[in-house]
Amino acid sequence: MLQRMKTHTVKIGSVTIGGNNPIAIQSMTNTKPEDVNGTIDQIMRLKKAGCEIIRLAVPTMDAARHFGEVRKEVDIPMVADIHFNHKLAIAAMENGADKIRINPGNIGSLDKVREVVKCAAERNIPIRVGVNSGSLEKEFIEKYGHVTAEGLAESALKEAAVIDDMGYHNLVISIKSSNVDMCVRAHEIISKQTDHPLHVGITEAGTLKNGLIKSSVGLTQILGQGIGDTIRVSLTADPIEEIYAAKEILRALKLRTGGVEVVSCPTCGRTQIDLIGLAEKVTEAVKDYPLDIKVAVMGCIVNGPGEAREADIGIAGGNGKGVIIKKGEIIRECPEEKLLTELLKELDELI
Ligand code: SF4
Repeated sequence: MLQRMKTHTVKIGSVTIGGNNPIAIQSMTNTKPEDVNGTIDQIMRLKKAGCEIIRLAVPTMDAARHFGEVRKEVDIPMVADIHFNHKLAIAAMENGADKIRINPGNIGSLDKVREVVKCAAERNIPIRVGVNSGSLEKEFIEKYGHVTAEGLAESALKEAAVIDDMGYHNLVISIKSSNVDMCVRAHEIISKQTDHPLHVGITEAGTLKNGLIKSSVGLTQILGQGIGDTIRVSLTADPIEEIYAAKEILRALKLRTGGVEVVSCPTCGRTQIDLIGLAEKVTEAVKDYPLDIKVAVMGCIVNGPGEAREADIGIAGGNGKGVIIKKGEIIRECPEEKLLTELLKELDELI
């Protein structure tokens, strides 16, 4: 089991992160703040997929009010994302935010930050502070010559220190960069210098395919060193994809268990069925099953059963015939077109 870096705990509504708590999966809504019903629907969908904390942009006072309306309808911790205006941070907290995300550096004067901290402290609401490579302060660019991992880590620690120095330590820190190397290095540096929980992710990772690869490469290196207490996979795609990606990354690293893991053969000259289509359908059909098992989808009856030995249940097919496999042994046959239905029947029996 991976040794996690020591961090203190932070309670975000009903979810506690830090310490030995599971790494919480989060995402952000992309509905318009005034579309209260659409936002509620999206949050429910994300929650069903496995999202544990949801962040909403709060760009205006109206948005803070809508945040409150959504808050009343959903039972998942909600984070308000604030830029520039400290009054929005306060309004979001008054409207039920379970956490706020601010950058003290862009909130304005220290007095304004102090007002935000006072409001958070009265309600014991955690504050996430952080830096992004795209908006790193000039001071750290000049100090290191350009945007560097060292500069990012130092800037994030400085932001956190502003609030720590006010006597409030209910903090989460994030460092974001779309440069995988820099992002990993910055996390390595900061994790040695703070015990505040870390929100990790590769920012602006890109569209679905590219973003998944970049996020997986970066997050594997960060999480693989025991760094990170909550994760957001940032994708230019439906936010639900961020949840599935986060779950897969955490599961591959054995940082979370649960869910159906689908393995499928890469196809070859012996493949006798539309395996690509079938594997896609199986992956889609099982993604919300409350089981912790491995399912194999194989492209031929000759080698498939043997190659599916490590899976709890498998299916293979070819030339019109399908087989259901358990631990490498064929347990029964079915018509090829019934493979998906027969697999789901097997899974239903296990629930
Ligand atoms: Fe090829 Fe069959 Fe192996 Fe799939 S299971 S890679 S079709 S030999």
